[in-house]
Amino acid sequence: MKVIVINCGSSSLKYQLLDMDGEALLAIGIVERIGIEGSQLKHETTGKGKELIVTPMKDHKEALSVVLNALTNEKYGAIKDLNEIDAAGHRVVHAGEKFSGSVLITDEVMEALEECIDLAPLHNPPNIMGIKAIQELLPNIKNVGVFDTAFHQTMPKESYIYPIPYEYYEKYAVRRYGFHGTSHRYVSARAAEMLGMDYNNMKIVSCHLGNGASLAAVKNGKSVATSMGFTPLEGLVMGTRSGDLDPAILTFLMNKENLSIQEMDDILNKKSGILGISGISSDFRDVENAAEAGHERAKLALTIYQNRVKEYIASYAALMGGVDVIIFTAGLGENSPPDRKAICEGLEFMGVEIDSEANNVRGKERVVSSENSKVKVLLVPTNEELMIARDTEEIVSAL
Ligand code: ADP
Repeated sequence: MKVIVINCGSSSLKYQLLDMDGEALLAIGIVERIGIEGSQLKHETTGKGKELIVTPMKDHKEALSVVLNALTNEKYGAIKDLNEIDAAGHRVVHAGEKFSGSVLITDEVMEALEECIDLAPLHNPPNIMGIKAIQELLPNIKNVGVFDTAFHQTMPKESYIYPIPYEYYEKYAVRRYGFHGTSHRYVSARAAEMLGMDYNNMKIVSCHLGNGASLAAVKNGKSVATSMGFTPLEGLVMGTRSGDLDPAILTFLMNKENLSIQEMDDILNKKSGILGISGISSDFRDVENAAEAGHERAKLALTIYQNRVKEYIASYAALMGGVDVIIFTAGLGENSPPDRKAICEGLEFMGVEIDSEANNVRGKERVVSSENSKVKVLLVPTNEELMIARDTEEIVSAL
């Protein structure tokens, strides 16, 4: 079965075409600047190299149409005919409390996703546009929705209810949802496979450390706690997001600086985190370089970042009554040996011991803890697209 995986942002459309026979990647690409001057598609077919297509694309449907043309192009395409595509899997950010797993897209599911727009106003609308574009351009194939929030729907109530008046949960569904679920699910199941352990009988802390970052406590194959909350702002310090802070700071600053709700939201989401503390960049590479050159606030930003991850790991170990495996994944988790080391340092008391030599690796599946480490520490590159394609194949073949 050939599956196209679609991940739409407000002005972007990322895609992969996979042949699920052997899980081979046939083509991959990204459309950027949809609806903005300078729209372009970067396409790559496995074995045929890269192709840049610059052409105006006013919306996601036009973008998808350019992608489908590229996929079937005689010279640089991956398939001869669009009929070869059997199904589409869509990344959707927010499914609220409606779905705890991936689902076949139906009219009812589309309605449910529209209802979740309130919870993810920036993310769900482009995700929905992506689904509609496929429905219009490839009307004969089935679509499957794979949700960032779904994996965390197994969290017990005590992990998702906030200590504010209960009526706000009932009235507005204000609760912890958690995100990066597809990634946490993929890497934790993969870690069990790598170690030959029973996924349904182990305690895992999964650390997805990218631009956005979150941790998940996965006990016996189920997410029982996660650091992102009602929105992806809570939890860890991130590139530009604050993560946890005293909520009273908001009202204090809004009052002092005469800030609107939108301005305060911008500060917390776009000007805080590593960028806010260091004043240098939201990209860890820049901040690490500055720290090495002796920049004090860059060093401070990294230490605050690392400590926050460490605190969460230890608290999730406490919550689960122990931990067998700690996983690092995503941009920073996969590519930064010094950050992995700094995060694990100090956790020796609970049986975590990094092997500096093994840890000196980027982007490869590997055990990076020492032989004697009671807790195994693993680097597992995430692959959300493959997870989406697998779910899609499973759901569509069962029809
Ligand atoms: P997202 O998908 O959330 O946009 P990624 O998972 O791609 O983010 O992670 C991107 C981040 O990973 C970058 O901002 C950068 O800070 C970090 N990163 C990537 N490579 C390295 C590296 N070699 N060293 C340190 N940080 C890195």
